[in-house]
Amino acid sequence: VVNLSRMNKIRDLDPVAAIVTAEAGVILQKLHDVAAEAGFLFPMSMASEGSAEVGGAISTNAGGTAVLRYGNTRHLVLGLEAVLPDGNVISSLRKLVKDNTGYNLSQYLIGAEGTLGIVTAATLRLYPLLRQKLVLVAAIPDAKAALDLLADFRRAGAEYLSAFEIMSREALKLVTKHMPGTRFPGRDDAPWYLLIELGASSPLTPLRELAEEVAGDALARGKMLDAVVAESETQAKQFWHLRESIPDSLRAQGKGVHFDIALPLAGLAAFLDEVGATIAALKAGVTLMPFGHIGDGNLHYNMYAPKEIGAEAFAALKKQLQDIVFGEIERRHGSISAEHGIGVERKALLAATKSPAELAMMRAIKRALDPDNIMNPGKVFD
Ligand SMILES: Cc1cc2nc3c(=O)[nH]c(=O)nc-3n(C[C@H](O)[C@H](O)[C@H](O)COP(=O)(O)OP(=O)(O)OC[C@H]3O[C@@H](n4cnc5c(N)ncnc54)[C@H](O)[C@@H]3O)c2cc1C
Repeated sequence: VVNLSRMNKIRDLDPVAAIVTAEAGVILQKLHDVAAEAGFLFPMSMASEGSAEVGGAISTNAGGTAVLRYGNTRHLVLGLEAVLPDGNVISSLRKLVKDNTGYNLSQYLIGAEGTLGIVTAATLRLYPLLRQKLVLVAAIPDAKAALDLLADFRRAGAEYLSAFEIMSREALKLVTKHMPGTRFPGRDDAPWYLLIELGASSPLTPLRELAEEVAGDALARGKMLDAVVAESETQAKQFWHLRESIPDSLRAQGKGVHFDIALPLAGLAAFLDEVGATIAALKAGVTLMPFGHIGDGNLHYNMYAPKEIGAEAFAALKKQLQDIVFGEIERRHGSISAEHGIGVERKALLAATKSPAELAMMRAIKRALDPDNIMNPGKVFD
């Protein structure tokens, strides 16, 4: 029996290598605090960090709000210690950045949703603590402007760009309706809004000048309609609160249909425009309210039907919407699950969207490591 509740120690923090070795039961918030005390940033941050553990984040390959800059959890893991289904323990906690010795066994367990073994500890990359941040919300005229602006900000200072989030007007409208004390930053009549965060480890980096230059140019060209820069940490937190309150506001409003999808950036604006038009043409009373990590090509393509809709009608509508969205995802070479994994709910979709060769390889790995199917049976595939 592996008792993960006791495996909650930070074994080592190497400030020269900028690597921390943490046990699987360490809460992410604790990891952030310990890293910050040593002058480092552990960049995987998300709303559940007060309860989510290192082992859970690794096993779900969690994304969070700064994937654009630091990658998914997968990119932060240098090595793992894990118990395999046959009881053997593997460890690559060697703090090596370079180790080209055949298959990278740790990578099989990352994002495996606990189906291949139990992670007990990990060596994780640390980054310099950010000594200043700049958060701005920009109103934009269309989805294509979001991608143009992403390119502009990348050209001007990709190394400072930590987050690039999109929120539809509809999503923000729901937040301001259901979350007391919230309001649109600036004008409230644009179809889309961006939340952009820049950060620097030096307090001397001219983040504000950089942001003002890009925004000034975008405003002059009509790619941006309005921009509000947070003037304090409190205001920056208020902007992030808007973004993070969208899922709860949707729940308060109606019966939600959720998609966590990824698309190649080049086709993302067309997806939003064209699939949005297809769904509107159904005239089924569905309100679209997409938002998400557009800088990562990841959309929470969410929508809701009125609360009054009957259970049967809602089930039929949901199926119709899933057929439309998943069909378009496949046609446009996207992913049916960007950061929420497969679990039980998306098993059938995984089987329908992966190629037979990929599925066969996944099954072969599972069978080889866990022939008796004792690790999280029923998850990912049957
Ligand atoms: C409010 C909120 C916001 C979130 N935001 C994001 C986000 O922005 N981006 C994102 O990617 N995800 C997000 N998530 C989901 C996120 O992936 C999980 O919250 C978190 O990473 C899982 O950690 P946990 O410790 O709670 O794991 P659990 O929920 O306990 O487990 C998750 C899975 O991992 C397996 N597992 C857990 N520990 C181990 C282990 N030691 N070894 C092997 N398998 C293990 C479990 O069996 C299960 O299948 C969010 C969740 C919430 C509730």
